[in-house]
Amino acid sequence: MTDHYDVIVIGGGPGGYVAAIRCAQLGLKTACIDNFRDKKGKGAPGGTCLNVGCIPSKALLDSSEHYEMARDGLGAHGVKVGELSFDLDTMLARKDKIVSDLTSGVTMLFKANKISYYNGHGTLHAERKVSVRDADGKTTAELSADHVILASGSAPMELPPVPFDHDTIVDSTGALAFESVPKRLGVIGAGVIGLELGSVWRRLGSQVVVLEALDTFLAAADDQVSREAARQFKRQGLEIRLGAKVTGAKVTKNGCVVSYESGGKNEELTVDKLIVAIGRRAFTDDLFDEGLGISTDKRGFIEIDENNRTGMDKVYAIGDVVPGPMLAHKASEEGVALAERIAGHPAHLDHNTVPWVIYTHPEIAWVGKTERELKDDGVPVATGQFSFAATGRAKAMNESGGFVKIVAHKETDRILGVHIIGPRASELIAEAVLAMEYHASAEDLARTIHAHPTLSEAVHEAALAVGKRAIHKAN
Ligand code: FAD
Ligand code: NAD
Repeated sequence: MTDHYDVIVIGGGPGGYVAAIRCAQLGLKTACIDNFRDKKGKGAPGGTCLNVGCIPSKALLDSSEHYEMARDGLGAHGVKVGELSFDLDTMLARKDKIVSDLTSGVTMLFKANKISYYNGHGTLHAERKVSVRDADGKTTAELSADHVILASGSAPMELPPVPFDHDTIVDSTGALAFESVPKRLGVIGAGVIGLELGSVWRRLGSQVVVLEALDTFLAAADDQVSREAARQFKRQGLEIRLGAKVTGAKVTKNGCVVSYESGGKNEELTVDKLIVAIGRRAFTDDLFDEGLGISTDKRGFIEIDENNRTGMDKVYAIGDVVPGPMLAHKASEEGVALAERIAGHPAHLDHNTVPWVIYTHPEIAWVGKTERELKDDGVPVATGQFSFAATGRAKAMNESGGFVKIVAHKETDRILGVHIIGPRASELIAEAVLAMEYHASAEDLARTIHAHPTLSEAVHEAALAVGKRAIHKAN
């Protein structure tokens, strides 16, 4: 017998499970199919984000930051620590517990919202029929729906000359579970994963070398932010070699020898572990039958229109499997807006106000366009910048590196981009997102009262600086 639903969601990551919850809230009979299982074989909805992405990486970033703070930062506060050590097993177990608490939480939310959760691999067939298969490939359910949402996410990309062996040469998932701290750690790719996970293991004692193919560091960020980040990471001992074209890697008894070309020369790097973090690919393996009208672009992403519709009637796609930034909050908000449209409500998402955060120390966060992008587009801009060094709260925290930079339209004063490097940038960016969502001008932000002493005063002062009237700096 075929169970029929209003909506079937294939994929239970932050795109899929959030879309399913919103559909159910709107009164739609909903099912969510997700194939993720934990180490014990139990269904673990939550996708890459909860299982092997955002959450476990942030758990290790926080633990390792506490350790580094105790080692190098607390002395400045007059806090003396005796002999310091850490227990990696406890750190990893804490991370695993956070993950299992959160994935169980999603299972509970499915129950609370009366969403049918199927743990298995979903494939879409003609007439919006969907089959579910278990790990052995046995069909466990045959379903159908009025609407189907594809939210199958992404998977790590492999670098052909450096295939994963999942022991010495690992992807981000392997890098979240090293059993001991590698003495020498290589990372291919100075992107978000390379910087975050490189930071974790450097703090815990690894000598980390990051090989980046491009000649520019953090090309997507504001130029001044990238320069400041490069300076701070270098000071911390995170070695980033730009313009490094990796040509191969050989695993030997003594580790892994990575070959690369740089400046016309052949170079080698010997490491104990190698993380390959060169981006992720859309995951569409066995997701839908051929000939349904669903197409993928040349990079493998499912093609959609502005309302997330694929080429098949009432079949949609969201999150990492479609073009756009691969971010959990972008996937979730796409899911919410789509659920509302399916239920007959008007809803849209402004992709110009998706915030980016890199959870290194200092944190890096931005929303909107960079000064360079705007200038390249011929947009007249005015900028305002303010350093945390002149912010009382940042000084009290002994966290005075970095700055806030606001880029506004020179004539209308509308905020077009906000770029932050410094303490709690991940939290501070929310105010900038809200301001941009409401089309605020720099003056709107400048006339908003900010509590004293807070880090948010740096955002306030940067907004004042756009009009050359920052109080705590010479304009
Ligand atoms: P996913 O989370 O990938 O979920 C898709 C789910 O569908 C998975 O469970 C998958 O197994 C399942 N699936 C796939 N195909 C099928 C099928 N046919 N049948 C059934 N199930 C299927 N983003 C942030 O915003 N902030 C961060 O701090 C952050 N940190 C990250 C750290 C790391 C190490 C990594 C790897 C990623 C990180 N990301 C972060 C990115 C974030 O994880 C993704 O953008 C987000 O998970 C995408 O959500 P999604 O729902 O589209 O896909
Ligand atoms: P990325 O796109 O952020 O960075 C990949 C880097 O690898 C780039 O700098 C690229 O130039 C470089 N590269 C590509 N090919 C290379 C090669 N052959 N040799 C050397 N360098 C090479 O990708 P990622 O770090 O793998 O992360 C994947 C996705 O996961 C990101 O797009 C991001 O959206 C998401 N993510 C987000 C967060 C966050 O929001 N804090 C954290 C982790 C991951």
